[in-house]
Amino acid sequence: MPHKPLYDITPFTALDYPDHLAAIFWFAKCNMRCVYCYNKDIVFGEGEITEEEAIAFLQNRVGLLEAVVLSGGEATLYNDLVEFCKKIKQLKFKIKLDTNGLNPKLVQILVENRLVDYISLDYKAPKEKYFEITKDKHFDSFSKTLNFLIQKQFSFEVRTTIHSDLLRVEEINRIIKDLIKRGYIGTYYLQPFVFTENTIGKIQEEKNTFDTSQLSSALKVVWR
Ligand code: SF4
Repeated sequence: MPHKPLYDITPFTALDYPDHLAAIFWFAKCNMRCVYCYNKDIVFGEGEITEEEAIAFLQNRVGLLEAVVLSGGEATLYNDLVEFCKKIKQLKFKIKLDTNGLNPKLVQILVENRLVDYISLDYKAPKEKYFEITKDKHFDSFSKTLNFLIQKQFSFEVRTTIHSDLLRVEEINRIIKDLIKRGYIGTYYLQPFVFTENTIGKIQEEKNTFDTSQLSSALKVVWR
């Protein structure tokens, strides 16, 4: 049976890759279990689309799309991601990677071989809350990815999803402080949690309000 790494393909988006028309490749499986995640089918499901089918899809989009967003799930779990990106690059598409940062080695290989053009990195929570939100213990791996991208001055953005009962404004301010300490000078994107019934942690609607007036202005913050 051919390996099917992709759960789905969104054929067209003008929103997910800054200033580019792109397709989104949704990779099946994830190494986190974020309590607010509503992509359960992708996180726990099996892939449906082979690499060959994805490349054939792109061959038909040459001249129509400029870029591909590798999302999921977590794309860096795919063992053949380097070779896959080479094939996408041969077709002259730009590549954006959405990642939780748990695979610093692979991110380093992709960046140093110019196999990605832009990265969106999730800063899920401050270290002491990382496990509570993601059910993952490897904040240090995420931290390595973040430091690497800053040190390389690579084109990337940091983003955090806010559920106001899980992350308070003080914690976001701690993240901002940490980003500045590490030398991050880009925009910090915040995205509000959108309630759905079926999240991984079965979490409820927010009861607290997130007091944006208390938000640090030390970094440029943009809500999405
Ligand atoms: S929100 Fe968390 S669990 Fe869901 S796909 Fe992203 S990293 Fe994985």
